[in-house]
Amino acid sequence: QGREGSWSETCCEGVSGEEKGDRLDEILNRECCEGRCEEEHCEEDCCGEDEDDETVPLRACAFNGTVADFLRGEKLCCRHKHLSKHFNMNRILEYRWSSGDERTVRELFELRKMGGGAQDDAVGPKPRDPPQVLRSKFIVEGMCCSAEEGLIQALVQKMDGVERLEVNAVTRTLLVWHDTNAVKATAILQQLNEAKMEAHLASVDRKGKKWTEHLPPWSVTACCLLTLVSLGGYKYDPIKWFALPAVAVFLPQLVLKAWSGVKNCMIGIHFLMIIAVLGVFVVGTMNHSTDIIDGGVLIALFAVSEWLESKTLATARNSLEAVMALRPDAADVVGVGLVPVEDVHVGDVVAIRPGDKIPVDGVVVKGTSVVNESSLTGEARGVEKGEGSQVYAGTVNTSSYLQVVATKESADSTVAKLGDFIESCSMHKSSTEKMVESIARYYTPLILLLALSVAGAAFIPAVAPSVSERNRYIKLACNLLVAGCPCALVLSTPATMVSGLAAAANNGALIKGGQYLEVLGSMKHLAFDKTGTLTEGKYRVNGIAMAKGKSEDDLLYWLASVESQSSHPIAWAITKLAKEKGIKIADQITNYTTLAGEGVRATVQGSEVVVGNIKVAARNGWSSSEVSSLRAQYESWERQGFTVCWVGVEGQALGVFSVADMVRPGTKALVTKLVKSRVKCWILTGDNEGAALKVASKLRLRADRVKSSLTPEDKYWHVSSLKEEEEAAGRCFKASGKVGMVGDGVNDAPALAGADVGIAMGAAGTPVAMETADVVLFSDNLQKLTDTISLAKLCRRKILENILISIAIKASIIVLIFLYEDFSIVYNILSDVGGALLVITNGLSVMWSWKSVKRSLMALTGGGKDAECSAKRKDKTLNKASCGGGGCCGG
Ligand code: ADP
Ligand code: MG
Repeated sequence: QGREGSWSETCCEGVSGEEKGDRLDEILNRECCEGRCEEEHCEEDCCGEDEDDETVPLRACAFNGTVADFLRGEKLCCRHKHLSKHFNMNRILEYRWSSGDERTVRELFELRKMGGGAQDDAVGPKPRDPPQVLRSKFIVEGMCCSAEEGLIQALVQKMDGVERLEVNAVTRTLLVWHDTNAVKATAILQQLNEAKMEAHLASVDRKGKKWTEHLPPWSVTACCLLTLVSLGGYKYDPIKWFALPAVAVFLPQLVLKAWSGVKNCMIGIHFLMIIAVLGVFVVGTMNHSTDIIDGGVLIALFAVSEWLESKTLATARNSLEAVMALRPDAADVVGVGLVPVEDVHVGDVVAIRPGDKIPVDGVVVKGTSVVNESSLTGEARGVEKGEGSQVYAGTVNTSSYLQVVATKESADSTVAKLGDFIESCSMHKSSTEKMVESIARYYTPLILLLALSVAGAAFIPAVAPSVSERNRYIKLACNLLVAGCPCALVLSTPATMVSGLAAAANNGALIKGGQYLEVLGSMKHLAFDKTGTLTEGKYRVNGIAMAKGKSEDDLLYWLASVESQSSHPIAWAITKLAKEKGIKIADQITNYTTLAGEGVRATVQGSEVVVGNIKVAARNGWSSSEVSSLRAQYESWERQGFTVCWVGVEGQALGVFSVADMVRPGTKALVTKLVKSRVKCWILTGDNEGAALKVASKLRLRADRVKSSLTPEDKYWHVSSLKEEEEAAGRCFKASGKVGMVGDGVNDAPALAGADVGIAMGAAGTPVAMETADVVLFSDNLQKLTDTISLAKLCRRKILENILISIAIKASIIVLIFLYEDFSIVYNILSDVGGALLVITNGLSVMWSWKSVKRSLMALTGGGKDAECSAKRKDKTLNKASCGGGGCCGG
């Protein structure tokens, strides 16, 4: 099935005969067998041994996670992600399984095995009755830092019916996929809150809080007040005992959290704090000194820092939520009235008044207006919309009345998908983040061990002969315990990533996870698709040449009939010309097929018509010397840099035509900037060499960086070979870089998927592009690409700063603890709190500084002076959320 079925057809389109089987084997076996099974999600027999077994490729992909997991390329059985990307490509081409299928990949493959062709499987019965799996979103206010993600996972994952979960400590968000028959969201909530995690369901409206809710919780306030009073102990000794109730008010929640950690075999900051405070009290009581006050100060500072951190991080969460809040709630359906947006179905006509947020993705059927699409594209200029124009949910109708027919259900709208993506993308960790977390995982137990040994030494008379010596050792151990909290280090990366992702989203770029932000910042190669990416993709017909005895009208009739089925920019140019010339399009057009990267084919009124590039012509023998007049014309146009296509009917060449396209404004500046920052730019195109070189010369790109006449698969191989080159460089201890690919997301799906980071441009409304690419730019303005790369670089710098800051602080504190006998535990906790707040603020500054940079850029370009928008700024309907926080209202 894997070899003969439509999967291999789509996987190896353009590869003929036996080569196809070999190519497929090569992809599957080479990529998979190198990796073997490394993760728990894989079957033992990840790579089939049996040569004759048709299911080898299927078992190779026996990945026991959901399709969504698989597409994200996480938890894969193979080190090389190409495999998932191949499946991904397949999925894109057969876009049937797209609707959030929660079946596992293995199940999908099993289905194929049982039920014949993929097409049948897609509509066939599911192998088992699906459980009622629901995704619930919780906000866990009591999550201290990423170090606690593990605890939350341990608490929830073990519950029956919980399928999987994702945690983000920065946004304090927990997503749980659970079978509602087995476990309800309330049970999960209860489990979390029993461990004092202060969780609530995200759907519970927390807006419009009372002012008192902005104050710290009573336990924090009481702890601080009592500690303040206890400070009087320095003047009048008995007052120092106020430190005891100060600790007592906050201790219960500390103990509960520590206990749930210990129960799950995790020693966290709460546990360390309890021991440290007890230690300080023991020393203080034995000494009869004011040291006891330090215990109160320690707890008070810890309580305040936890509260402050949660407040600061909520800023990051809110900025992500602002993007999700773009989803409108209600729609005014013509003839029905106001209904919840979920009840608007494809084909319903919706009325949109000036100032309204457009509720659905659809096409304008009545009226003309200017729509502010900044919420999606990040560009604050109005876009004119008339009958037939595409509009998107979440954008704002600014000038006059429109009627729009819905073309998508609200859950499938671009903005809904954007929201879903952002929510789960912020959960994906980058490699730096994972590395930092694994360091932190060893650091805490190590310090704990050190502290225990120091404390143990206190009770060895030979080491600590006097009481004061013993106390000194105990104090040292307590100090070490406090220094054992790696909060700042653990937060150094995610705080920056989340704010980077939020800044990108507000600027019209969806980045699907921190790892891609990281890759964007360290790209060494960037390959561009030509048509529609570097060029505008707005072709106009330059010339037509006919074979002997054929008329232009005849040629245009066949040509336009086939092209009427295509969405390629060449097709638009041809159908437009045919319309202008009054050429009728045939009624009967069947068997329409796209020849990927080559052209199109269809049966028009019973005759087979083929349109395509020189490869198509060569295959049909049209470009040989018998039809030399066409060949000469072809070559002449190619030399001039035109895109040239051949047209043939019933196997006979009918003629050739040439079309021309313009390079997008700003492309040259972008390429120059990239080259300056040592990124090697490539052009990968299916077009002929002449047209490709013409674009390259306009962009001052070297001719050897241009690869022409490529099929989508060739583009994939080229990107893969660049990646292999870089990986090889990495193995030889040279700096290895990453490979990016920019394309239109449909044609270039394989290459986008194969690159380290695939960037789809102008992708608003193209769900395929949103699924395939790792970075989605909603507008087709190349400036967005420059912005996004700069943002990624800024994030990289901030992360590096944060890691250095947090390591420097911890290292100097540990040195000071050992150097100075009397080093106060208060300074220690102050440095810890300060460090954590510093890295969070530094990380979040990406978002803030980016917003102000964008504002000044807009002011320079005049974008911010959008009259309608500023007028609407006063209008309540165009609230902060509808402007995406970064558009006309600038947040
Ligand atoms: P690019 O890689 O530059 O985006 P495409 O892959 O879209 O180019 O197309 C490659 C070539 O295939 C085009 O230059 C053209 O010759 C041919 N082609 C593709 N689609 C069509 C079509 N609908 N009509 C005619 N020619 C087409
Ligand atoms: Mg293209």
